[in-house]
Amino acid sequence: MGLDVNWAIRWLTLSAQAMAEHRMELIELDRPIGDSDHGENMDRGFKAVMVKLAESPPESAGAAMKLTAMTLMSKVGGAAGPLYGTAFLRAGTALGDTVDVDAAALAAALLAARDGIVARGKAESGDKTMVDAWTPAVDAAAGAAEDGDVRAVLLAAAEAAEAGAVSTDPMLARKGRASYLGERSIGHRDPGAVSSALILRAAAGAVE
Ligand code: ADP
Ligand code: MG
Ligand code: MG
Repeated sequence: MGLDVNWAIRWLTLSAQAMAEHRMELIELDRPIGDSDHGENMDRGFKAVMVKLAESPPESAGAAMKLTAMTLMSKVGGAAGPLYGTAFLRAGTALGDTVDVDAAALAAALLAARDGIVARGKAESGDKTMVDAWTPAVDAAAGAAEDGDVRAVLLAAAEAAEAGAVSTDPMLARKGRASYLGERSIGHRDPGAVSSALILRAAAGAVE
């Protein structure tokens, strides 16, 4: 069994809950290497996604991703809004109007999301950004997809993203606000990598 629109709605709902629950943590992470707004931005964005989902319920997982993209682009602002917006838009385009998303299509959508983030932000692995969560996640997802189990794909992605977020601690930031700090960015975890891991963990949690 693949994933459907109800999974997508559960995913977005769990993501919104995670952004609300971890709002202060994301704000605190953004304080030393940014401007202390990441938790605020993400919580506001996903609250707006919940409103949109209720107003115009999507008919496919892909449509849910596109609605999320539009909402995050207009409500999140800063660096993260356009980056997550592009990620969800590319994922939605990759899924199209498929009603039953299998493991291969899921891994392909995650890859498309990561490629969208890279196309938009031009960060490479090791630059201390959300890409350092997404790239290990899509690699793990691709490996897990070979067995054809959507839950395994998302669990692998979430676990790799969490490790990827931790891996940003010793990195020197080369993109975004944190890059203004140069060497002083070392020793802090990237907030966008942490929010990315939370969103991917929510995706796994949404599988029934
Ligand atoms: P802002 O920095 O504008 O206040 P946020 O605080 O909401 O925006 O988001 C910051 C996060 O955005 C960073 O932690 C990082 O993960 C991500 N980010 C910033 N610039 C880039 C980039 N060029 N490529 C990928 N991710 C980026
Ligand atoms: Mg910020
Ligand atoms: Mg900001």
